[in-house]
Amino acid sequence: MKKIAIFPGSFDPFTVGHASIVERGLPLFDEIVIGVGVNESKRAHRTPTQRVEAIGRLYADNPKVRVVAYNDLTIDLARREGAKYILRGLRSVKDFEYERDIANMNDRLAGVETILLFTKPEFSSISSSVVRELMDFGKDVSDFLPHNS
Ligand code: ADP
Repeated sequence: MKKIAIFPGSFDPFTVGHASIVERGLPLFDEIVIGVGVNESKRAHRTPTQRVEAIGRLYADNPKVRVVAYNDLTIDLARREGAKYILRGLRSVKDFEYERDIANMNDRLAGVETILLFTKPEFSSISSSVVRELMDFGKDVSDFLPHNS
């Protein structure tokens, strides 16, 4: 059976930190489905469709990566995609408790296992929200975005 993982997030925008998680997750799974979630509580810069298209361009040549938008629970997306795993990045202790609670719930409700990868130190301070804020003030954020995005 194919080992499929969902990599869920808002990805507004998709940063070099996200790209690093995908790259490091690829040897672990047969397929990674990047799930662009519609998170009502977060201020969005780009529409989910724009985000899916931009991320899709990055992985156009990689048949192991697909990008989809979704607006229900990650476990529902996992069921639709036949995925038994959720891939997430862990930057700090701040991420930890949140990730643990969600991971426990996803396991309990759907038997979906969460695989956490520690962020590489050079990416640990990069967040989409900080990049968005810099963009709002017209700063050059190209260092934080994958090259061909
Ligand atoms: P969410 O709204 O679900 O937190 P994000 O788009 O902010 O969505 O993040 C998606 C996933 O990528 C999360 O697991 C998050 O911890 C991880 N992530 C975010 N930024 C980085 C980074 N700089 N390095 C590694 N992982 C990251």
